[in-house]
Amino acid sequence: LSERTAGFTDSVIRRMTRVSMQYGAVNVSQGFPDFEPPKEILDRMAQVAYEDFHQYSITWGSQNFREALAAKQSRCMGRKIDPNTEIVTTCGSTEAMMAAMMTVTNPGDKVIIFSPFYENYGADTILSGAEPIYVPLVPPDFHFDPAVLEDAFRQHPKAMILCNPSNPCGKVFTREELEFIATLAEKYDTYVITDEVYEHIVYAPHKHTYFATLPGMWDRTLSCSSLSKTYSITGWRLGYIIAPPNIIDRAKKVHDFLTVGAAAPLQEAVVTGLKFGPGYYDDLLAKYTHKKELFLKGLDELNITHTDPEGAYYVLLDISEFGYESDLEFCEDLAHYAGVGAVPGSSFFREPVNHLIRLHFAKKDETLLEALNRLEGLR
Ligand code: GLN
Repeated sequence: LSERTAGFTDSVIRRMTRVSMQYGAVNVSQGFPDFEPPKEILDRMAQVAYEDFHQYSITWGSQNFREALAAKQSRCMGRKIDPNTEIVTTCGSTEAMMAAMMTVTNPGDKVIIFSPFYENYGADTILSGAEPIYVPLVPPDFHFDPAVLEDAFRQHPKAMILCNPSNPCGKVFTREELEFIATLAEKYDTYVITDEVYEHIVYAPHKHTYFATLPGMWDRTLSCSSLSKTYSITGWRLGYIIAPPNIIDRAKKVHDFLTVGAAAPLQEAVVTGLKFGPGYYDDLLAKYTHKKELFLKGLDELNITHTDPEGAYYVLLDISEFGYESDLEFCEDLAHYAGVGAVPGSSFFREPVNHLIRLHFAKKDETLLEALNRLEGLR
């Protein structure tokens, strides 16, 4: 078998969902909702079953889907996106990130990744033959040291991965921080591959800035995102890359050979969601703001030290007081004895960290209350 993948372990995030099922635990590990997607999308899905969408769509995405996505993202990003030359539709942002990496890197190229990071990025670099350079985001506010970041850029990386809002630490990069990264990207001629799947889940007063919209950055940015979190359809596997035509032209080919295309009927059904007005996104944010308040208040009442996310729906809990040497063991016991599924923090950090676990609050209120209730068992 390949040496390249010999070091791969199972995704810990996905494994914790299986562990949760095994113990009947409330699963707040892998980040996905247990509430329904918008009814309008489901109604449209039911109709689509009897329409002519059962064969391959155009490999880089059906025309209807790309036009609806271009209209929505043009509005959100404040820049006219061309549906024909500036979008590739992918099987989730998971494929978008992989295809983006393969589009820009050669084997041996270096890629900057902030740590903590979403675990796929490490595997993406290995699969594309690139080498990660990890730059720490320093707790408690997860800032980066500009000098350390510039040191990483001095190694002339081909690309940098930027997850904003960030999974798992909930950081929303300020415009100033992004402008500093932009200056380095320009100076060292580096591509930036963003992961912006939580673009609509940014808590006041924080604001999302699309990296591609910073001066000079459009030409070097591959904006990856997904419909999973925005429309609560993680199982539909719909994502995309937005970038200038010369990059998209290549990414279309990479995507075609990887997967041919995303599911045609699902692309069609979600057009209904892409056409929602701005009110939908306000409501989505209000819902998550409420869930965040509910869940964090519960954790405070349990006296557990935790992060306060600026965006996305994850919270890191400090488990030092429980005296475990291994966060993996803690999570296994937590699922088994307390009945709560969590992700060990070590799977997100390059640095040796074993005192954190990640929970998420993309769940019905009753599920969150049940998780809190069970966590009380720790006290
Ligand atoms: N992004 C989600 C998480 O971090 C789920 C990712 C996945 O498992 N595809 O939990």
